[in-house]
Amino acid sequence: MAQSGLMQRMNNPEYKNWMRGGQCLLLLNSSLQGFIAAEMKTFHRQLACKIPARQGSRCQCRAKGKQFQPGCSVCAEWKRQILDHHTNRNGEIHWGNCNPSHWTTNYFEVAKAYMPRGHADKQGPHKCDIAALLNLINGCCHFRSSNLPNVREIIKCRNDLMHSYDMKMSSFWLADFRNKIQQFISEFIHVPGLKEQGALIQEVLSSDWAVEDLDQFEVDGAIRYQSYCLVSPVYGIEKQLIQELLQEIYLQIEEQGTLSEKDLDNVQKMKNFLSGHKDLQLTLRADIRRLEFLERNTFSSLELKGAMEQDEDVPMEPRKVVTMQE
Ligand SMILES: [Zn+2]
Repeated sequence: MAQSGLMQRMNNPEYKNWMRGGQCLLLLNSSLQGFIAAEMKTFHRQLACKIPARQGSRCQCRAKGKQFQPGCSVCAEWKRQILDHHTNRNGEIHWGNCNPSHWTTNYFEVAKAYMPRGHADKQGPHKCDIAALLNLINGCCHFRSSNLPNVREIIKCRNDLMHSYDMKMSSFWLADFRNKIQQFISEFIHVPGLKEQGALIQEVLSSDWAVEDLDQFEVDGAIRYQSYCLVSPVYGIEKQLIQELLQEIYLQIEEQGTLSEKDLDNVQKMKNFLSGHKDLQLTLRADIRRLEFLERNTFSSLELKGAMEQDEDVPMEPRKVVTMQE
């Protein structure tokens, strides 16, 4: 019988490499969350000591995208302190991640000023992906004693994985990743639980996923196989990683307001991949609908652009992609 679903994917060595790398980053993420929370609470207390407490009227300050013009003296001072502790104070800062009126009371609203775009709705490190946590370490001077090149190497590895829309990584890449993650763990060995998690990470990198165990479910028909998939830890990891990858596409679209040809190509790669796997289509229904919505919307916008470009007398405004509400 032809292989399908999880079993087929798990028999593809490059897909397995993609999954292994992704699972290691999920493990790393879970051990960094508590550390980040503790360190950023300390950092927040240190900053709060330098800033006068809010008096009188409530703050109405709002930030948007990379812009923030403080409307009150307390937010102005918080902004100054956050910038003073930024490793890249002249670079892009995604102020829109933060609710400035909560800076005095909520440590995480301050932490988000050191994260990439798209974290406005996140309420704590446990809701963030590894890219957000690593960028925070890289961007905030509170962590300046760390070896930042090691951190940046892991950020690059994570980007390699999450920009691989056909979800394949070579064995060469995985071997390089293994060295880099080992160096990172040695550097952050003081983080509670990371030593133990490091052993697990090594296990994931060394293990061969037991695909033969799936045979019994495969021959027994779709229903039993699907119920296996829904409870399988491998399947849970896979779903989490694919959703993170899709999230990258959504953020790209929201930031640019449209899909470039490269984005469309990436969307197509994702759709091609998903179309070959009914089990994934089942559990990622909402994501597939969102992807198709974005694609349809952009195609109609491109058709309009093409039609208008033919008529040179008509000035053309780029049309924005409307993002679908959750
Ligand atoms: Zn304010």
